Amino acid sequence: MTAYKDRSREELLQEKELLEAKFQEIKGKGLKLDMSRGKPSEAQLNLSMGMMDVLNSTTDLRCSVGVDCRNYGVLDGIPEAKELLADMTEVSPDNIIIYGNSSLNVMYDTVARSMTHGVCGSTPWCKLDEVKFLCPVPGYDRHFAITEYFGIKMINIPMTESGPDMDLVEQYVNNDPSVKGIWCVPKYSNPQGITYSDETVLRFARLKPAAEDFRIYWDNAYGIHHLYEDKQDNLIEILMACKQEGNPDMVFKFCSTSKVSFPGSGVAAIGASKRNIDFIKQQMTIQTIGHDKLNQLRHVRFFKDIHGMVLHMRKHADILRPKFETVLNGLKNELGGLEIGSWLEPRGGYFISFDALPGCAKAIVAKAKEAGLVMTPAGATFPYGKDPQDSNIRIAPSYPTPEELAVAVELFVLCVKLVSIDKILEEK
Ligand code: PMP
Repeated sequence: MTAYKDRSREELLQEKELLEAKFQEIKGKGLKLDMSRGKPSEAQLNLSMGMMDVLNSTTDLRCSVGVDCRNYGVLDGIPEAKELLADMTEVSPDNIIIYGNSSLNVMYDTVARSMTHGVCGSTPWCKLDEVKFLCPVPGYDRHFAITEYFGIKMINIPMTESGPDMDLVEQYVNNDPSVKGIWCVPKYSNPQGITYSDETVLRFARLKPAAEDFRIYWDNAYGIHHLYEDKQDNLIEILMACKQEGNPDMVFKFCSTSKVSFPGSGVAAIGASKRNIDFIKQQMTIQTIGHDKLNQLRHVRFFKDIHGMVLHMRKHADILRPKFETVLNGLKNELGGLEIGSWLEPRGGYFISFDALPGCAKAIVAKAKEAGLVMTPAGATFPYGKDPQDSNIRIAPSYPTPEELAVAVELFVLCVKLVSIDKILEEK
């Protein structure tokens, strides 16, 4: 396969004509396809339907310490839910608070509390002239939306295949006291599917922050979301690593069962040191009398324990794996050797990240939309929605059916080719 950049103008125009005809043919079908958000498919949601049967009008609804889950009581989660989510995130149940149905909500609360009340007694951020967050890019748009909402200045930190560029992270965190946080999706990252290497995690744990209220916002949303049984990424547990390095309070770990049970109706949690947990609970007693314990109970009775959850995740993997393979094979077969894009092959998570030729991402997403395929908006994977290279596109293969996905990939690669040809011709 000759790379497009090495083809003559005539060859490219000829190729373009063929591709354009194909594009018009697909466009004519009036498709409605969506690869924009990391939503589980209906088949995945069906895996958890048993949860609807574990509680009914005759069920004993008392938790392990005898509290009636139908009533008020228990601020930070029923013990069996704490144990389940503690096992999921590899921390002790003493280091966890169970929240409501969304980890993003917990992250928002964490930033909001820091703005108004500071972190464990330090100056509230709203009283400071400037607050900055480091944002590994490409990253998760909803993280960036939270920090943008609070007027926190975001600084791009390039991702490498082993995690964020740690030289830059150290330089900022260890020298600039206005840097208060960093957004991390450390395992099967959104969108690249990268897992931070041991060295990266240890360098995080060994940071010497200039700000006493600097925290790592460790969003382990995809911690148990493997695609393969024999090829799994491993991530060093950060809370213990920080403790071992003398930084016990430096990390907030976030997780939820959104992509284990039901997105929007799962159980979320934060894991942190005792000092952080105690501080957070002071606010929690004002904020709520307690979260939904029936939902916590439902989750524990359905999964039983972490082993049950691991077995459940294998069923998700069986549904997701062929979808990832459809996308990856499509990219490889259709774009391999053309030198108009690059991507990684994640072993878990929900996304595939595609880097087009610089200056092409927006046009590719627009072209796909023209033929009925909705992608995540180009730029969304960067703070302020601004990809300086206009190159990154997030592909979310989970939601469409396998049949829809095959068509979506065919259309996507077609759009990549067409836009790239235009770009190369423009520059020739
Ligand atoms: N963090 C990451 C990295 C995500 O990709 C998502 C959802 N797609 C969330 C958090 C949202 O989690 P929740 O449903 O628990 O709010």
